[in-house]
Amino acid sequence: MNDINRASFDRYMMPNYAPVGVIPVTGQGSRLFDQANREYIDFAGGIAVNALGHAHPKLVAALTDQASKLWHVSNILANEPALALAKMLTEVTFADKVFFSNSGGEANEAALKLARRYAHDTYGKHKDEIIAFSGGFHGRTLFTVSVGGQSDYSSGFGPLPQSITHLPFNDIEALEQAISKKTCAVIVEPIQGESGVVDADHQFLAAIRKLCNTNQALMILDEVQTGVGRTGHLYAYQRYEITPDILTTAKALGGGFPIAATLTTSEIAKVLVVGSHGSTFGGNPLACAVALAALNLINTPSVLNGVNKRRELICAGLERIANKTGCAIGVRGQGLLIGWVLRPDWHGRAREIMHAAQSSGVLVLVASPNVVRLAPSLVIPTGDIEEGLGRLEQGMMALAEGS
Ligand SMILES: *Cc1c(COP(=O)(O)O)cnc(C)c1O
Repeated sequence: MNDINRASFDRYMMPNYAPVGVIPVTGQGSRLFDQANREYIDFAGGIAVNALGHAHPKLVAALTDQASKLWHVSNILANEPALALAKMLTEVTFADKVFFSNSGGEANEAALKLARRYAHDTYGKHKDEIIAFSGGFHGRTLFTVSVGGQSDYSSGFGPLPQSITHLPFNDIEALEQAISKKTCAVIVEPIQGESGVVDADHQFLAAIRKLCNTNQALMILDEVQTGVGRTGHLYAYQRYEITPDILTTAKALGGGFPIAATLTTSEIAKVLVVGSHGSTFGGNPLACAVALAALNLINTPSVLNGVNKRRELICAGLERIANKTGCAIGVRGQGLLIGWVLRPDWHGRAREIMHAAQSSGVLVLVASPNVVRLAPSLVIPTGDIEEGLGRLEQGMMALAEGS
């Protein structure tokens, strides 16, 4: 791969991303190594995907073991890993039934279609309204960008799907005013990861649950980013006494292998009759074998309890850096989904911070122009956390002195 470098991106790839200059070649735990064998501590975790770090031996074993057995059979045949994973997901959540796909956007597409179809078949075709929230993110299909609350992502792609209402996030009164018997579903994230790591208030989630019940609407919880241990609970809803009707999960589910799932009850699932929805690769044996291994590793007290211990360590380090540089006012989010909120005089500099961090050997993410995001592996070693924070401090000191 001698002639492959960052310039190849501009030459051969569509310009819808702006990757940084380094190209990682290998990963080991929470460390990445680039083409020049320079090493980085990974606080980005593939955007909340690599929940067990890179090249976890048990995931590599699950993948290679399945790779020598069976890769793909299509949906005219069932396969063992998919059935075992579906069984496990129903045992560890509220759900009775599972639909597999390959990405968070597809899992939400299925959830939204399911909600429309359930309302259509149960109450009639007038009940088609979907309520969503500004700042929300649910994927990049045409339906999910239309439901998402960032108009930049849907503008220029019209005509868009209809009967979608956007309301302010965490505003119970606005929801009380808007929801009606015409509403078929309300979709919400427990934490809005893509628009600045903004937590949904507990009372807001409780109000959605209650108002959905009184209006015969379904509550769809998008746990694509918060699920699979990220918050210190297997799913974020499990911290509250609020059960959704439909839950979507993706990102960390395969520990880095693409897989997603839409979970629901038997009562709702029954409207997806044979032929009503599908996916060629969804539920393929390779993805499901890896996800089964990942879920078994993550759904243990030691991993889940370790999440908040690691959060405390990281947040203490971020506070130390903020005290030295004056860059940030505090943190948001839960568990290892951390939003580091910049002080007003640092507003707009999250991307610059990401680059400075990378130059000092640590990878972080941007959640919005004013919020840096960290979503490291749930099992990142304490030593890597400390070293990564040290490097971040160096990068931030350089930025602070330069500004
Ligand atoms: C990342 C994300 C999605 C989209 O997932 P893809 O796998 O990119 O399609 C949807 N919802 C939330 C909350 C996400 O964080």
